[in-house]
Amino acid sequence: MITVFGSANMDLVAYVERAPDLGETVAGREFRTICGGKGANQAIASARAGGDVRFVGAVGSDGFGTELREVLDRSGVDTRALRTVEGPSGIAHIVVEDGGANSIIVVPGANGKVTEADAERLDGDALLLQLELPMPAVVAAARAFRGLVVLTPAPVVPLPPELLDAVGLLLPNEHEAAAITGLTVPEEALEALLALVPEAVVTLGADGAIYGSRDGSRLRVPGRPVEAIDTTAAGDTFAGAFTVARTEGRTPQEALEFATAAAALSVQRPGASTSMPTREEIEAEARRGRPKDGR
Ligand code: AMP
Repeated sequence: MITVFGSANMDLVAYVERAPDLGETVAGREFRTICGGKGANQAIASARAGGDVRFVGAVGSDGFGTELREVLDRSGVDTRALRTVEGPSGIAHIVVEDGGANSIIVVPGANGKVTEADAERLDGDALLLQLELPMPAVVAAARAFRGLVVLTPAPVVPLPPELLDAVGLLLPNEHEAAAITGLTVPEEALEALLALVPEAVVTLGADGAIYGSRDGSRLRVPGRPVEAIDTTAAGDTFAGAFTVARTEGRTPQEALEFATAAAALSVQRPGASTSMPTREEIEAEARRGRPKDGR
């Protein structure tokens, strides 16, 4: 069983030609509400990839909270330990300009009310953590957990040593890896991360991912040659699928292939949770193998 301890947000996304300046009003082209938050995204990605997944965190007592819980339930995530707290749910207010540039305001809402008490008694084979909950709760969860602790260190914030001491597998993208280590060459950053944690994966966008562990193993899986239309939550899809494969006892190489196939499918579809592939889809993509001469 995989426990995800993290954030759930309603993403409020306005698509505009150009974002307004301060004091200015502009007409938008389209508006969407999309269930997000790194925690909820990783929970849904893991469940769709075939994991037995529980989500622990908090949603608000508003309509967004009801909707977030429903989407998690529909995706096959166990939400019995997800609290509903008085007040608003977490939201991300997102403006996307033509061409893809975006600006985002995150208001934590219910996520900010998750405490160390919520972090007690989390169980399972693996715990998936990100950094959108209050840090004391994240640290408490990592320290108390008795299985593999997997941390996606996003958003970038200083990492307390007592958190890193409890992490088994760190899973940053190349920007997060550079922020943590001060090293912009991903291979060098990976080596520096292995001084902090026993195992690490650095994802490299279209270039795939690299893996290392303190037992000396180093692996590289190239990205699959696909046409990406929306890379939102590609990293969360990768993290969920990788953890599912590892908890099933697959080797790091197999887990990398499985996660890379999952993420490649997700970038070819719009949205976050809506873009996450099922296990059958991932297996079919992975079986297709890699074309020798590109696509
Ligand atoms: P990122 O968080 O951008 O490093 O992406 C996470 C994972 O998603 C990568 O390790 C790839 O497996 C996959 N991915 C991201 N962008 C692309 C892309 N343009 N084409 C294919 N796969 C991608």
